[in-house]
Amino acid sequence: MKVTSFYPGPATIHSSIPSMVIDAYNTGILSANHRSPEFMELSFATKSQLRARLKVPDDYVIIFISSATEAWEILSQSLTSKTSQHFFNGAFGLKWANVAESLGINVVKSPFDINASLPTGQIDSLSEWLCVTVCETSNGTMVDQNVLQGLSKERLPHQLIAVDATSALGGVILNFQLADYWFASCQKCLGLPAGLALLIVSPAAIERGHLLAERAHYNSFLNLFEHSIKEQTHYTPNVLNIYLLWRTLAAGPPIATIDMRLRERLVGLNPITESNGALPWLVSNSSLRSPTVITLKTSDPSVLKEKALAQKMILGNGYGTWKDTTVRIANFPAMDDIQFQIFVEWLSTL
Ligand SMILES: *Cc1c(COP(=O)(O)O)cnc(C)c1O
Repeated sequence: MKVTSFYPGPATIHSSIPSMVIDAYNTGILSANHRSPEFMELSFATKSQLRARLKVPDDYVIIFISSATEAWEILSQSLTSKTSQHFFNGAFGLKWANVAESLGINVVKSPFDINASLPTGQIDSLSEWLCVTVCETSNGTMVDQNVLQGLSKERLPHQLIAVDATSALGGVILNFQLADYWFASCQKCLGLPAGLALLIVSPAAIERGHLLAERAHYNSFLNLFEHSIKEQTHYTPNVLNIYLLWRTLAAGPPIATIDMRLRERLVGLNPITESNGALPWLVSNSSLRSPTVITLKTSDPSVLKEKALAQKMILGNGYGTWKDTTVRIANFPAMDDIQFQIFVEWLSTL
């Protein structure tokens, strides 16, 4: 029996990938130039699927980049003149703030507790961007769309919102209208090999790009944007992954169905974590938990991981502050319901 990886990224990829890779080879797209009509058609088809399946609004522009980390950099380099505010409760949000700082941005850090809601009342009036990590992969918390709406309402007219949706996009319903700069890499909820990410930007973010007109980097926003609206890229993109994204989206259900399926799995898990007190949730308030990254407390992660491995399951390590006290389990769409059920049943025997 094959070992199942519950690691939250790079994660288990869709089981249909091997045959789709062969299809990609056979179509010849992998040898096509990224200015060719073949690539432009693929780019258009992929973005159309993103709009149809994930409900990306028509007036938001979708741009292919290489990683979420790159999206952090683009925001600071091209779309921020002085200051950005970062709300975070875990390692990825903090890293984003640190990347901005190292690029010379004046960063306002607004940390909050993992058992508290994001403090929408603490908006810094000088910040041009309010930065939020919707699902914090390091601790399994989620910023609810209602909270994001609160932030969106309370901001000042010149303030835009940026959202790291890396372990959310493709797994949970997102209301894109609530923010201006969304991004996610594809090796988490999208169930693909690593090496591609999506940047999804509002008309207001594009306007900010034109206003600042920054063009000093290979991945300057305007370079990316101008090619993207022509269904091209200015660098040689990860065509294989774009092809796989197109095919997996086309073969999959709409986001509302996926979102419900992931939440239903948690309904099966909850009674077990509650009755066997050995593995409590890291986040006690269930409304603050991400449905995509299950984070459980354990006094000895290595023992638990060994037990799981004996049953052909790889659990994810804790991350950052929670490295030695938690395990993380990906509840991503590419994972079969049956595999997840096997995990839940195993948990019930502990
Ligand atoms: C994994 C992850 C990242 C980093 O993604 P890369 O593609 O490796 O750059 C950033 N933010 C969050 C929330 C993540 O889960």
